[in-house]
Amino acid sequence: MAEGTTTPHAGPVESLIEVIGLTKRFGSAADTPPVLEDVSFAVRAGEVVALLGKSGSGKSTLLRCMAGLLAPSAGEVRYRGERLTGTNPGTAMVFQTFALLPWLTVRQNVELGLEAKGVSAADRRVLAEEAIDLVGLDGFEDAYPKELSGGMRQRVGFARALVVTPEVLLMDEPFSGLDVLTAENLRGELMELWESDEFPIRAIVLVTHNIDEAILLADRVLILGSSPGRIVFELSIGLARPRDRDGAEFRALVEQIYSVMTGRPADVAVRPAAAPVATPGTHPLPYASVDALSGFAEILATSGPESLGELATDLRLDFRDLLPLVEALTLLGFADVADGRVTLSAEGRDFASADIQMSKQIFARAAIERAPLVGLIVGALEKTPSRALRWGFFADVLGGSFDEAETDRQLDIATDWGRYAELFAYDADHDEFVADPDRAAAQVAGVP
Ligand code: ADP
Ligand code: MG
Repeated sequence: MAEGTTTPHAGPVESLIEVIGLTKRFGSAADTPPVLEDVSFAVRAGEVVALLGKSGSGKSTLLRCMAGLLAPSAGEVRYRGERLTGTNPGTAMVFQTFALLPWLTVRQNVELGLEAKGVSAADRRVLAEEAIDLVGLDGFEDAYPKELSGGMRQRVGFARALVVTPEVLLMDEPFSGLDVLTAENLRGELMELWESDEFPIRAIVLVTHNIDEAILLADRVLILGSSPGRIVFELSIGLARPRDRDGAEFRALVEQIYSVMTGRPADVAVRPAAAPVATPGTHPLPYASVDALSGFAEILATSGPESLGELATDLRLDFRDLLPLVEALTLLGFADVADGRVTLSAEGRDFASADIQMSKQIFARAAIERAPLVGLIVGALEKTPSRALRWGFFADVLGGSFDEAETDRQLDIATDWGRYAELFAYDADHDEFVADPDRAAAQVAGVP
């Protein structure tokens, strides 16, 4: 593979964003340990920069400081040499959770950012149309978010950021809410756009915890260590695009970064060993759609016990992408993991091999018993005469365990699982979870 490629955007080195001696602590007390300490780097025109770090290392905080959504406690952020005092005029953000407004259509969601900028209705329409075409959403202009798959929703997220033609696109784990194949597809499309002449963005900053993703996309990878967050390592990636995950150079870079990330003092979030009672907070739902986890169960049913590493290689995936699927199967009692090998349980084999109706029943039973959030929603709906409860009710209940974004995410996953299992559905028009009418009938007939 060719080394030392340049993007068509590369010109004389021009810093678009500079982060200078940035320290950020939450809370006013000076003795609060900082989340970020003395972070300095620049984002230059023509480059894709990945900020890579473990969960909790301060990546999102750093990105929000760059967007001017958070003020640094010390140090500063400059855009084109000017110190930020409010939101960064040169940036737009793509979020992991899509953050779409459910009551607005695709077009209206995309136009939102322009409305805030005071662009006229006629111009908004034209610009939104262009952005929608650019990300491959044409035909979906009048659809509502709930009608779209995760991948299509994130396209709306991209269109909404691109429509304001920011110089620098800031992306906070934009692919990690998607199933692995969709994520891979979107990454490829983003890179095609980036390499093409029609793409108006001059630099991209990508926050990720996925090593492969950083190497696939970035020209430069900055590794953030934790407690406090600091840049501990910087690496230039000179591989030509599109990049080949299986190439020797690629694998060598993965290993190099992996050893940097694991060679530091342990800053991995440690899960409580044994929670006395399983709750939605102690047993969050892994980020796995039913489609993805049932596909994965079928693969396991055919292949027998498999090492995660080999599976990842066979499926041409980063093994970290498999983890949510493995976690979901384990949570549901469909699989066990020992010595790095995944084995389907008897129930898991039944789930994988049964016909669709039977699979749904097996899944429903397991989810109610072992996925606390699904059990909570089912139980609460059963106790409610109207068989409907508002999103806000569950969001409040989860608020003690999760931040807002994670709460949304947990409820999204629960909705996907509940819908598949025909336990409940989410009515986006009324912001309500609604018990599946067939379920009441099924219960009378004694079916779980
Ligand atoms: P990452 O994106 O790398 O997972 P974050 O930037 O979200 O990390 O968070 C870094 C640390 O800062 C975490 O310990 C988190 O709990 C804390 N943190 C983030 N936002 C806030 C906030 N608004 N108030 C208090 N603490 C916060
Ligand atoms: Mg984050």
